[in-house]
Amino acid sequence: MNTLAEAPTPTERSEQDIIRALHDTVSASRLSLFLQCRLKFYFRYVLKLQKPKTPSLHLGSTVHAVLKAWNKARWLQQPLTLKEVHATYLNAWADTTEGPVEWEPGEEEADKTTGWRLCDTYLREHHVSAEIKPDAVEVSIEADLREHGLPRLIGILDLVQQGHIIDYKTTSSTPHAEKVAHSTEIQISSYAVLYRHNTGRNENGVQLHHLVKLKNPKVVITQLPAMTAAQQTRLFRQMEAYLKGLQRRDFIPSPGMHCSSCEFFNECRQWH
Ligand code: SF4
Repeated sequence: MNTLAEAPTPTERSEQDIIRALHDTVSASRLSLFLQCRLKFYFRYVLKLQKPKTPSLHLGSTVHAVLKAWNKARWLQQPLTLKEVHATYLNAWADTTEGPVEWEPGEEEADKTTGWRLCDTYLREHHVSAEIKPDAVEVSIEADLREHGLPRLIGILDLVQQGHIIDYKTTSSTPHAEKVAHSTEIQISSYAVLYRHNTGRNENGVQLHHLVKLKNPKVVITQLPAMTAAQQTRLFRQMEAYLKGLQRRDFIPSPGMHCSSCEFFNECRQWH
């Protein structure tokens, strides 16, 4: 029999609601984080602990905003001039609506220059043909996977051009093709599932466009083939593990190399 003493508190109730919603819908980033460290997932998506934006994240989101504007203008067939791209960059850099950024003294100006040099390099080297109209830009899509006993998959594709899914990344080191194909597999397979559900056909392949923050910035493009049946199976098994973990409220820490960049390090040390 339920008693008042057994009823969940408002905090517990809202946590239940949040977990239920996470159970119904999943994205590649949520799934990846859950499989990397369930406690970090809990801090970020269940407790929703707010942390200052890191300089690296700010630089990455600014570059991303510029490439999105540039591709949208191409889609509208009204390409931006380099001057307009630069103005977009400055506006995006000044935008701190997602919260303040914790800069070290002198760091902001150096990062601002690096970010612009990345955009400039990418556009000057013509890594995406400016003449060809994109199939889609920054499109938010979902796939209902109930027939597989799985949650609804959601995601945003940066760019689709000539049937290729293109994803932008900023990084401080040159990526290794095979390693990057492995480390981004959840994201790539998720995008392929989303693409197929929304177009009714297979993608021609996936391209990872890494903008590398070196003294002399460079762009590394990794071409990956269309998702295989085995990769889809791996993704679906990973989603099943996600569902089971949420059902059990299995939010344990997974200490490892990735902890060095974890914003919840102090909270994690308090966990027992
Ligand atoms: S410090 Fe490591 S183990 Fe702890 S929450 Fe962060 S990623 Fe997980």
